[in-house]
Amino acid sequence: MTKPIDFKVTARDGEARTGTLTTRRSIIETPVFMPVGTQGTVKGVRFEWLESEMDARIILGNTYHLFLRPGVEILLKMGGLHKFSSWERSFLTDSGGFQVFSLTKLRKLTEDGVEFQSHLDGSKQFLSPEVSMEIQATLGSEIVMVFDECPPGDAGYEATKNSLEMTARWALRSKEKFNKLQNDGSDSGFLDSADGLSGNQSLFGIIQGAGHLELREESLERTVDVGFDGYAIGGLSVGEEKSVMYEVLDFLAPKMPAESPRYLMGVGTPEDLIEAVNCGVDMFDCVIPTRNGRTGSAFTSRGKINIRNAKFADDEGSLDSDCGCSVCKRYSLGYLRHLYQAGEMTAAILISHHNVYFFLDTMRRVRESIKVGAFQTFRKDFLDRLRENAPEAV
Ligand SMILES: [Zn+2]
Repeated sequence: MTKPIDFKVTARDGEARTGTLTTRRSIIETPVFMPVGTQGTVKGVRFEWLESEMDARIILGNTYHLFLRPGVEILLKMGGLHKFSSWERSFLTDSGGFQVFSLTKLRKLTEDGVEFQSHLDGSKQFLSPEVSMEIQATLGSEIVMVFDECPPGDAGYEATKNSLEMTARWALRSKEKFNKLQNDGSDSGFLDSADGLSGNQSLFGIIQGAGHLELREESLERTVDVGFDGYAIGGLSVGEEKSVMYEVLDFLAPKMPAESPRYLMGVGTPEDLIEAVNCGVDMFDCVIPTRNGRTGSAFTSRGKINIRNAKFADDEGSLDSDCGCSVCKRYSLGYLRHLYQAGEMTAAILISHHNVYFFLDTMRRVRESIKVGAFQTFRKDFLDRLRENAPEAV
């Protein structure tokens, strides 16, 4: 049987690696940063820019948000998320689990699934492995995530272990339902591929275990036993110390199947991405480029800067003199600051644009350095520059 995706490692430098991930809709060079399109749009950044200037090949969609609004019925009527949004390249959709556990109140968690109140209108809703797989089939994404339980980052050993057991059982149920949906043609994004792929959706498993290394290892083994097209590290950057995240990555990533894509969910800052690549991670997503863009905060090669700072009022320079994006080529810091202070929505749009470009361009540079065996030099220079020149850097 042909596979839904193909992944080939193309170069290695220590644990860091480059690869080519082929889905039914795009060829994705890894390591890759996937911009987050929560509601079916990357906030403030038009698809035209993502396609042409940034050459993003894959973005995220959020199952939880799209399930609540516009809802499955409308998405089905509109032919799935690709047709509805007009984004024809790849989508990865999360399972909704993380949002249910982080955004909602009054939830009832049982073996069957989780009952929660919509954050929009307070209505009672229910998500389970089966429901999540049905929604993601309706969305028609190229990469579907299993429905998992995500414990808080500081969860104790027992709580984490129980949650991990539940996640393992839910992973099995997710896969069974996923296979059924693929067989009965429920995937709205099905596409006959000319390159030997099955045209179906792919399914990724999620490794949990918080900061407990032996539980991480157990979760890895159980997830690999079920068998998925790719493997994700969940439950990091959820409130734990940064050193815990780096310890887990260092321990876990090199143990994950080498021939499958490794995806670190919801992380992180440019520094986090570089450190995770160093451990062998291939895929990332995070809301911070656009979330920070909306609050006037720009990521640059010299660290994070805040456009509200009065010192930029008459600055004729750009956000980042090393950035090739159309915002940096055209607009001065002084002008961007003026727009932000005046409450113009263009300020958020332009800074978000630069930030997403910066993340994608950083990953482009990471890939180039791995290919020529110079990743460690790149890593040191990149991190030194962030730390030395930016008092506002985090
Ligand atoms: Zn720029």
